[in-house]
Amino acid sequence: MLRQLGDEARLLAGGQSLIPLMKLRFANPSHLVDLNFISGTSYIREDNGDLRFGALTRHVEIEVSAVAARIPIVHDCAAGIADVQVRNRGTIGGSLAEADPSGDWAVVLMTLSTEVRCLSNTGERTVSLPAFIKDAYTTALAQDELLSEVLVKIPPKGSGGAYLAFKRAAPVYPTASVAVQLTMEGEICKDAAIALGCVGLTAIRAKDAEAALRGQSISEKTLASAQDAACAAADPQSDMRGSADYKRNLVGALVKRAIEIALRRARGERVEVGHIYA
Ligand SMILES: Cc1cc2nc3c(=O)[nH]c(=O)nc-3n(C[C@H](O)[C@H](O)[C@H](O)COP(=O)(O)OP(=O)(O)OC[C@H]3O[C@@H](n4cnc5c(N)ncnc54)[C@H](O)[C@@H]3O)c2cc1C
Repeated sequence: MLRQLGDEARLLAGGQSLIPLMKLRFANPSHLVDLNFISGTSYIREDNGDLRFGALTRHVEIEVSAVAARIPIVHDCAAGIADVQVRNRGTIGGSLAEADPSGDWAVVLMTLSTEVRCLSNTGERTVSLPAFIKDAYTTALAQDELLSEVLVKIPPKGSGGAYLAFKRAAPVYPTASVAVQLTMEGEICKDAAIALGCVGLTAIRAKDAEAALRGQSISEKTLASAQDAACAAADPQSDMRGSADYKRNLVGALVKRAIEIALRRARGERVEVGHIYA
C-alpha cells in the first residue's frame, strides 16, 4: 500500500506521535496505512541470545514482560515513558521510526547491541541501530519500507544497566536522560556503553566517558572522569526545559547515578529505578 499510495502516505502505529502532529497540522498525510490490523506484529521473544520485539509491541507490554526484564534497562525504559495512556498505545517500532531526539528508546537501545529489521515488498534488511537513526526525525527507512522487528542482544553475565531521565512531569519528555550499560569482571569494568538523550539531535554515545571506565575499577576518580567526559560530549540547546549549561550539568549528575546503579545491578543486586522529577 505504501508503494501504491506514494510519498504522502504515512504508517500509523500507536498514533502517539503522529496524531498530535496531525492535530497541530505539522503533518498532513494523504493516507494513513494502519499497521494495527496486521496480526502477529506484537510480540516479545527470547531467541538464541537475543530479545526480539515485534514493531507493534506497546510500551506497556514491555513494561510488564518477564522476558523483557531479562535486560533490566529495557524494563526501566518502557516503565518510564510518559503516562499509562501513552504507554498503552505507543509502540517500540513507532518510537524508533519517529527518531524524536527526546525519545527514550533510542538512548537505551544505543547502549546495547541493537539491530532493526526493515521490510518492503522487495525484501528485508537488517540495520544496526546507530546506522538506522540518521538525524533528528530521520531514519534509514526508504519510503516504501517499514520497521518490522527490533533485535537486542542479551548482555553477558556480570552486566548491569540503568536508565535515568530528569523530567518535569510524567507526560512530558525528559530535560535530559542517560543510559549506562556495564560489564564487570570482578572489580574491573570490562566494557561500558553510555548514551545521552535530549542533549543533541540524536542520542549521543559518550565514547570518552566509556573509555574512562573501561579497564578500570569504578572509584570516585574514574566516576569523576566519566562525568567530565559525558558533560563534554553533550550538545544541548537552551529551551523552555533549561539552559544549555544547566542541561550539561544535569548530564554529569545523571551519569554518576546511573553508573552507580548499573554497577550494583552488575554485581547481582536487585535495584528498582525510577525517573527523577523536578
Ligand atoms: C503526551 C505524550 C508524552 C510522551 N512522552 C514520551 C516520553 O517521555 N518518552 C518517549 O520516548 N516518548 C514519549 N511519547 C511518544 C510515544 O512514546 C510514542 O509512542 C512514540 O513516539 C511513537 O510511537 P507510536 O507507536 O505512537 O507511533 P505513531 O505515532 O503511530 O508513528 C510515529 C511515526 O513513525 C512512523 N511509524 C510508526 N510505526 C512504524 C513502523 N513500524 N515502521 C515504519 N514507520 C513507522 C509513522 O508513520 C510516524 O511517522 C509521548 C507521547 C505523548 C502523546
